[in-house]
Amino acid sequence: MSQDVHPHIGCTVKTLPETHWIEAADTAARINPVNAPATHMLPFARSGEPVTRSELALLTAKYWGSGGVQLSVSFLDNPPADLRKRILGHMNAWGKWCNVVFSSTTGQGQVRIARQGGADGGYWSYLGTDVLQIPAGEATMNLEGFTMNTSESTFHRVVRHETGHTLGFPHEHLRETVINRIDKNKAIAYFQASNGWSAAMTTSNVLTPIADSALMASAATDVRSIMCYSLPGAIMEDGVAVPGGADIDSQDAKYASTIYPKTYSHATGIWPNGKAYFFKGDQYLRYDPVQDRTDAGFPHPIAGNWHGLPASFAAGIDAAVLWNNGKAYFFKGDKYVRYDIAANKSDAGFPKPIAGNWNGLGGHKIDAAVRWPNGKAYFFSGSKYLRHDMAAGKVDAGFPKPIAGNWNGLPPSFTAGIEAAVVWDNGKAYFFKDAAYVRYDIAAGKADAGYPKPIAGNWPGLFPADLNA
Ligand SMILES: [Zn+2]
Repeated sequence: MSQDVHPHIGCTVKTLPETHWIEAADTAARINPVNAPATHMLPFARSGEPVTRSELALLTAKYWGSGGVQLSVSFLDNPPADLRKRILGHMNAWGKWCNVVFSSTTGQGQVRIARQGGADGGYWSYLGTDVLQIPAGEATMNLEGFTMNTSESTFHRVVRHETGHTLGFPHEHLRETVINRIDKNKAIAYFQASNGWSAAMTTSNVLTPIADSALMASAATDVRSIMCYSLPGAIMEDGVAVPGGADIDSQDAKYASTIYPKTYSHATGIWPNGKAYFFKGDQYLRYDPVQDRTDAGFPHPIAGNWHGLPASFAAGIDAAVLWNNGKAYFFKGDKYVRYDIAANKSDAGFPKPIAGNWNGLGGHKIDAAVRWPNGKAYFFSGSKYLRHDMAAGKVDAGFPKPIAGNWNGLPPSFTAGIEAAVVWDNGKAYFFKDAAYVRYDIAAGKADAGYPKPIAGNWPGLFPADLNA
């Protein structure tokens, strides 16, 4: 083997049973609307045949949203702490280039790693948002036989590759430009001998191209991608080996950074699907910061659309804040609910009392909450506010303080109390009160000149007054 050719991984992308395809496609499109296929580009559409939901489901990409990927990780077979840490480290290697954070949990992770052999052995992962369709307690990724004795190069090649699948990246070698070069009979014989694969398995894992319409990927084929198998020259019609990837390469890094851009991590009010949510009474609406308008069809009732929120919250909330752990928090009176964004439902066991669970926040009625790009969250309560240190998990000493005098340039009607606040990805925060809003420059630490302005006419489709959150 030449130095350039890395042993192929023999990984399979796990697919859901066909009965789950439509549900999984709906999940993918809800989390990240750009996953939905452009129907006019479909081969089915060209033939004049109606496109079925199953066909559409097959062509739905499985990327998480542009807000990045924050997923919890648990292990199903209790590996030692040093091995857990080492695997997590390679998963988080993607985070050098894109907005991706995997965090270990001793509870039920969203990503669940097994190391089993046998019929379900080998190296595999489900693709992107499909991970959410896997029942609790079952693996979403398998790293057969990984121990602390496994070589560092194998950690690079395998853990980073399987994590790529979890991030939604398909196999690079399944592009038509690669597959068209393979001698099919030689490939079937080769993988039979090296992996014990049947002809059907090799056909599905190596010889079946991904439809271009489903392949949201970088424009050029990258035969050194971490997502590319190595294929020996002996099975290629042109005799030229496909080197495959030993690590995340520059094209992988560049593409990942466009799918999950790091800059979005500063837009602390924008959800992973690229949207912001506003609440008033028992209604809410979804706002598109890029189009700068409310999405069509909104507002909707909270009830029935925010799964698991208790009736008292569905009737209206006091405040909502998007946290940095894949959760949103809703506040109502002296209680709060933790909402899992990826699962699109309230976590079990909520509502809980604010007092005792939010260190320093108990006893304050929350009017508005906003996460700042400095690792702090601000909670507004009447004419006062509290600064919460997210890493420390508590309100900083010396708070609450009056809004007046500490938030430069806010007019008196706002320092008397605000109703809602959001941080955008333009370095600005927006505060709402009655029928007006103020734009606040985060870096300058003061309100921009010319505010307050009326909500109506400046926020197309937004509730014109009296937001709750
Ligand atoms: Zn793979």
